[in-house]
Amino acid sequence: MGLLTIGNPLSWEETKKLSDHVRKHGIIQFINLYKRLKDRQGDILKWGDEVEYILVKFDEEAKTAKVSLRAVDILNILQEREEANPTGVKSLWRPEYGAYMVEGTPGKPYGGLLAHFNIVEANMKYRREEVEELLLDGEALMSITNFPRLGCEDFSFPIAKPTPDQGATRSLFFPDEVIYPGHPRFKTLSQNIRERRGEKVAINIPVFKDEKTVIPVDDSHLRSKAALPDHIYLDAMGFGMGCCCLQLTFQACNINEARILYDQLTPLSPIMLALTAAAPIFRGFLADIDCRWYIISGSVDDRTPEERGLKPLNNNKFVIGKSRFDSIDSYLSPQGEKYNDVPLTYDKEIYNQLRENDIDHLLAEHVAHLFIRDSVSLFTEKVNQDDEQDTDHFENIQSTNWQTLRFKPPPPNSTIGWRVEFRPCEIQITDFENAAIVCFVVLMTRVILSFKLNFLIPISKVDENMRTAQKKGACLNEKFWFRKDITTQISPPEANECCKGASNGSNCDVFTKMTVNEIINGKNGEFPGLIPLINNYLSGMEVDADTHCTIQRYLKFIQRRASGEILTTASWIRNFVTGHEDYKMDSKVSDRINFDLLKTVKGIQSGMIACPELLGYCPVSKTVEKIPPAMSKVAG
Ligand code: ADP
Ligand code: MG
Ligand code: MG
Repeated sequence: MGLLTIGNPLSWEETKKLSDHVRKHGIIQFINLYKRLKDRQGDILKWGDEVEYILVKFDEEAKTAKVSLRAVDILNILQEREEANPTGVKSLWRPEYGAYMVEGTPGKPYGGLLAHFNIVEANMKYRREEVEELLLDGEALMSITNFPRLGCEDFSFPIAKPTPDQGATRSLFFPDEVIYPGHPRFKTLSQNIRERRGEKVAINIPVFKDEKTVIPVDDSHLRSKAALPDHIYLDAMGFGMGCCCLQLTFQACNINEARILYDQLTPLSPIMLALTAAAPIFRGFLADIDCRWYIISGSVDDRTPEERGLKPLNNNKFVIGKSRFDSIDSYLSPQGEKYNDVPLTYDKEIYNQLRENDIDHLLAEHVAHLFIRDSVSLFTEKVNQDDEQDTDHFENIQSTNWQTLRFKPPPPNSTIGWRVEFRPCEIQITDFENAAIVCFVVLMTRVILSFKLNFLIPISKVDENMRTAQKKGACLNEKFWFRKDITTQISPPEANECCKGASNGSNCDVFTKMTVNEIINGKNGEFPGLIPLINNYLSGMEVDADTHCTIQRYLKFIQRRASGEILTTASWIRNFVTGHEDYKMDSKVSDRINFDLLKTVKGIQSGMIACPELLGYCPVSKTVEKIPPAMSKVAG
């Protein structure tokens, strides 16, 4: 999001009054931008990852682990370095929602060389070390999706107390001090989302019912009408936006390729969510789900009761099916159109305006759908803009539609092209795992484009898969809708041979349900598998020995995760808790279990503790900080 410039946030009442203003100018800005950039051609593949981390403070005597609220101090130092040397740093650091979070990206995006896969993990390691140098005694930087005891009593260092009757969040559990204090955006978002909704967000996660689990799990239902007794109740934006994830952005050669990538990666989102599942604990309880997605979606659900369909429409314009944070609602490429089977809620006037300006039906629908939302964060300095040059109002709405994929137009006055951001993955414990996932997804984009593969299934089935993906143990036990025949008329013969099937039949001819293992590794005679397709693609390329080795290490790891030979992070965490001597079969993750869990995670991440059940037996990384001049070009 670029260095966040500090500004003065408007109150919800003021922001609300300017809603139409933001939308009106946002659309004009998009139209201008589109006219300027729709024909932009010839951008090369560039891509980069984003890793979010949690700062943890261990107390060896008390045997506790808490979130450390020092992100602002650390970011001040890191951003000073960046400002002194804007193009020379090897990493870029940005704030995130939590006062205990930081986000790191590579200093520059990677390019189209396969050899770039050799530096991804080394750069992640570099980033980690860079922050570790700034830590105080007892602090650790951890890439974990959720802090297990987030929202439990005294879970932060320094300790902060929730203020249910005042402040931005008004949570029973999540104090405002735990929101990043260095920029007003985060607190403003929390306050405005709550005010727009008309009440606090309410998330009820089914608790994992163990032999001695007591229901009600706690007294939340006595303190709030929104709480269900056999669920883990969460009532703050921080419970979702305070989670960490792994994101990837790709630059396409032009707008059409970006639309293809956006669509083709959509059916892969739930598969990748299940494969990277890493969040089985919330507010100190084992949950009956494995992922952050449902929580983060609920944590920014600013829809009013009318918009949620609970009351007749009176003050609002639309009944809206999903939170601002959820999986995408429509495909963007011509191929995708027939799979847009869920009626899209969109602003008809905006749609017409876009159409009048020669924006095609699918893109117009997409943008008019994003623009059913109000701005939930507006700064005084940004109210009046030059619609020919600025895109802030467009970005205001675009960047607060947090979906599985984001279709990103080029920023004004930059060399950056049309991009797609892939956002479903949960963050993993080690740099190795995160690098493997990143490289796998990047390779998938190359295979999709080179082999002209078609993964499209109806949006309703993607939605169903998203729900399935979050279930406990989904990676191993659940089946997902997937396309039987992923080849197209222009796919190469090798890909065609392994998957014959009707491409224009009834639903059951075209789509089937498969496990993550079958999707990733293949199903005998019926489906080729994503990894075999990648290998097929790689076999046609010149790859130097080091790069080959790196890629195969990563692919092997993905294969093993998918097959269940090694555990997902969520399953591993679950096993750790239920196998801990302090665990009383009551679903509770005590301070002591939390401490030991995070100590072990830290050991695994630094390589001090071997964990073959999570990582497999992989040879040690040979990744490097700079690529040798091996010139194996990635196609497409
Ligand atoms: P966000 O919109 O999530 O804030 P950023 O704009 O900060 O994302 O960038 C996210 C990622 O995009 C980073 O990993 C960065 O390296 C990468 N990136 C930067 N420039 C490009 C580009 N031209 N093409 C593709 N990715 C890029
Ligand atoms: Mg982020
Ligand atoms: Mg991002």
